[in-house]
Amino acid sequence: MQVASNTVVSIDYTLTDEAGVVLDTSEGAEPLTYVHGVGAIIPGLEAALAGKGSGERVQVTVEPENGYGQRDLALIQTVGRDQFRGAPDIEVGMQFEATGPGGGRIVTVVHIEGDRITLDANHPLAGKTLHFEVEVVGVREATAEELEHRHVHGAGGHEH
Ligand code: ZN
Repeated sequence: MQVASNTVVSIDYTLTDEAGVVLDTSEGAEPLTYVHGVGAIIPGLEAALAGKGSGERVQVTVEPENGYGQRDLALIQTVGRDQFRGAPDIEVGMQFEATGPGGGRIVTVVHIEGDRITLDANHPLAGKTLHFEVEVVGVREATAEELEHRHVHGAGGHEH
């Protein structure tokens, strides 16, 4: 069976940046399992996996426009330290979940100057060219319920 829309795909993967630094990997963990064709993974990787079969290896370089997008300077804001009442000592690199009308978003502390704290709400991988080494470890038909929920049930997915 080949990877196509409405299949459930399991992959082992290692993601590196242009300098070869490992940003993310499934090594030592369960494979990533997702529903293909519903935008569950970034478009550049989804396109590269289409038509592949179990056991096939794929290497793909994904530019930001097919990955997590370009960095948006409008998503970088400086706020006062008093916004963090009750939070522990703020340090560069800390991440918080901010809630907004569009749902939760991870913001990262990128700069601190006195009581002024600069936050970046861009995805941490925005603006990066990404190199994926992937092995397809499983492909199966999605169930009707999985397609309706747009996520995987059972092994590697939701239990509900
Ligand atoms: Zn579900």
